[in-house]
Amino acid sequence: MPHLRGLWRFANAYVMFTKLGDMHYKGTAYQNKDYVYFDVDDFHSFGRRASNYRTFFHEMSHAADYSYGQRKCNGNYTTIDYVDKNGNTLNDYLKADVENRIRTEVDEYIEKKNLNLTAEEKKKLEDDVTHLIMNTADYKNDPPKIDDAMTKKCYKSVVFSIKIDLAFNAGEASDVYGGYTGNTVSYWQHDADYWYTTTTDANGNEVPAYDENGDLVRTTKQPLECFAECMAGMITDCDSGMDGYNYYSEDVQNTFNDIASEMAGTN
Ligand SMILES: [Zn+2]
Repeated sequence: MPHLRGLWRFANAYVMFTKLGDMHYKGTAYQNKDYVYFDVDDFHSFGRRASNYRTFFHEMSHAADYSYGQRKCNGNYTTIDYVDKNGNTLNDYLKADVENRIRTEVDEYIEKKNLNLTAEEKKKLEDDVTHLIMNTADYKNDPPKIDDAMTKKCYKSVVFSIKIDLAFNAGEASDVYGGYTGNTVSYWQHDADYWYTTTTDANGNEVPAYDENGDLVRTTKQPLECFAECMAGMITDCDSGMDGYNYYSEDVQNTFNDIASEMAGTN
């Protein structure tokens, strides 16, 4: 966890760059550049107080991420620009976190079902299920079609298992897990099209973009949301925010801490 002094320096230094766009904004709270939009009247709504109070710090963290990046990261968001000593970004660690989680679940499924697979078969099943989950653009509107019976069973079991775990244990991290899986495994999330880029197909329709390896081309929102969710959780000591932070891999947590410390000038 970042040093408390670092957190306060972060809050103090960057809250002053944050500007109020509209504090009576009636739509979904958001940030644009240095500006935050939210509804202060909603802060004390019954049962929603913590979440809306946290929302201010969530949007403020996006604005700080942006404004620090404008000054120090060539105009990019800090969380996108940051590269650690191993040459990895927060996005790299988040993606690996989700992927490892899927692979672990596939292994557990193989063991639980006593599937007698060779090392190659096991690797293939792991690769296939991981590819299916991580290259879905929009699970709700376009779930993958799976022909192979064993792959299908394993896929369903793994998705169900991760979904339940995210619902009970992951707090805010559920959103970002959705961001790497076309919302396949998340129980609450941004809309699927927030997470992927698009291209125009032969019929002139806007469709999800895939690269030459068949991998979905994502937006850069995943690390941004991870940062804002974790930071808001820490500043407000909100349970679901801290559950999210604690759910991520150590690599994700360390990188978040490094980015926060750099922005606070405590690195
Ligand atoms: Zn956000």
